[in-house]
Amino acid sequence: MVTYHIDMDDLVDNLVRLLRTPSPAGNTGAAIDLVEKAFGVLGLRTCRTNKGALRATLPGRSDDRPRAVSGHVDTLGAMVKEIKSDGRLKLTPLGGYMWQTVEGEYCTVETEEGATYTGTVLAHKTSVHTYGRDELTRLKHSADDVEVRLDERVTSKKETRQLGIDVGDFVSFDPRTAVTESGFVKSRHLDDKAGVAVMLAAAKALQDAGLQPAQTTTFYISPYEEVGHGASSGIPVAVKELLVVDMGALGDGQNSDEYTVSICAKDSSGPYDLGMRRRLVALCQEHEIPHKVDVYPYYGSDGSAALRAGADLVVGLIGPGVDASHAYERTHKDSLRYTTQLVIEYLFAD
Ligand SMILES: [Zn+2]
Repeated sequence: MVTYHIDMDDLVDNLVRLLRTPSPAGNTGAAIDLVEKAFGVLGLRTCRTNKGALRATLPGRSDDRPRAVSGHVDTLGAMVKEIKSDGRLKLTPLGGYMWQTVEGEYCTVETEEGATYTGTVLAHKTSVHTYGRDELTRLKHSADDVEVRLDERVTSKKETRQLGIDVGDFVSFDPRTAVTESGFVKSRHLDDKAGVAVMLAAAKALQDAGLQPAQTTTFYISPYEEVGHGASSGIPVAVKELLVVDMGALGDGQNSDEYTVSICAKDSSGPYDLGMRRRLVALCQEHEIPHKVDVYPYYGSDGSAALRAGADLVVGLIGPGVDASHAYERTHKDSLRYTTQLVIEYLFAD
């Protein structure tokens, strides 16, 4: 039995800072910088891959079966696809989500020069007083229906372009992060900033307690998971097993909840490694960590990306239970704590 302390205040602080740092897939530099600094403060050596992923290494008691733990900082977002004749912006999505889940959300457009403009994502036809309920009910809420209303006095394509806004600019959605007295964290993009905050908390708990992981461990922070190819490269070739820390999916028929650590048995890419799953469940039983084994029907992960790219790895996936994933998400501190605990026990166990 090892003794360690999980600093939940530090975990939540890191999570909130990360959530408030925009990082739509393809524009994750600021979030990667933030995580690199946090690993640096813990004394871990860091480096970047060519693709922009971050690696932080924690030397182990042994080095004959190196491990990796991955999480991703890229989030859902959008890119300017077209400037419409009325000066509003048509979007193309980054990652997989329904437009309805971002309609009404505040957003920020970042120009090539680094200027930022605020706006709101809205269906082109929104006013019930102008269009009537019948017409609005028929809306498909597709990319053709949705646009950004900029908080600028623009009414033409030319005026919007004069702001410096153009096709290809990144658009990030306001995460609306809130931590409640009752222990919930409500925010967009808990997927997977919650997982990254958990990884930092696990590394901190080990370092604070002066404990070494059983095997040399690489923390891999992925910048392109939401678009499918995140960990397809960049996991060190010597690594033999990968623990992905990403969210557990909730909803009708799901086993997971916001108060336990979710262990994924299977997602849309197939089953995760059975031996690894059994070890994770056994660690939960041994250390009395509340957990749920689950199947996520429409889900893929950086583990799937690494395997599909041909990596010869044993892969497992765990995460905090996140309600309303890829919409306005929510989890509870309990889920964050138990996920951190399982990461620590996994890292420490031979
Ligand atoms: Zn994710």
